[in-house]
Amino acid sequence: MAHHKDEKTLVIIKPDGVQRSLIGEITARYERVGLKLVGLKIMVPTVEQIEEHYTLDPEWRRVTGEKTIKGYKDKGLTPPSEDPIEITGIILENLKKYLSSGPVVLMVWQGAHAVGVVRKITGGTEPLTSDVGTIRGDLVLDSYQMSDTDGRAVRNLLHASGSVEEAENEINHWFTPEELVNYRLVQEQILYDVNLDGILE
Ligand code: GDP
Ligand code: MG
Repeated sequence: MAHHKDEKTLVIIKPDGVQRSLIGEITARYERVGLKLVGLKIMVPTVEQIEEHYTLDPEWRRVTGEKTIKGYKDKGLTPPSEDPIEITGIILENLKKYLSSGPVVLMVWQGAHAVGVVRKITGGTEPLTSDVGTIRGDLVLDSYQMSDTDGRAVRNLLHASGSVEEAENEINHWFTPEELVNYRLVQEQILYDVNLDGILE
């Protein structure tokens, strides 16, 4: 089994993050926790690439649809449809418009528990309810209610892989193996070395 420190995850800074000049601020937050940047590029994704990204997991449409329907009902609202697949059809169309509207920054971060650490720092999907201290909680203010009323995707600055398996599929989707750099970061010694025997002269 690969060591924990080899775990990788995919982050996408969505067009609103780029337009708000938050590339540096967002990158700094993942960097300062101790993660290592091993892949990086800027591009305008095609609608095909976006659709494929969200449907890599055949369950994503059902799970996200069910979660969205529950979200409406929990707030005492009527969902636009009772069919999870129909609901995510709308979400997917809005995501395609949102993510193809301008350049995005794609990043692969590596380090111990990279998937979980990045999700924690990123915060929950809806900015209105994401925790203070997270990127989505601190740097943007959208809500499902506002984005649904306006018929658009929620502007939450980022995508971050939800599991190790999802991360593997998403990294393969956006990066070739040659685009990922295998290197050592000096600080990894203090993060991961068992004996800390390289410090004293
Ligand atoms: P993430 O992993 O935190 O980005 O969230 P998901 O994978 O669950 O959802 C991906 C995207 O689908 C989000 O960034 C939203 O654009 C959209 N989405 C997810 N859940 C909802 C919801 O309950 N309502 C609406 N309107 N959009 C949603
Ligand atoms: Mg997700």
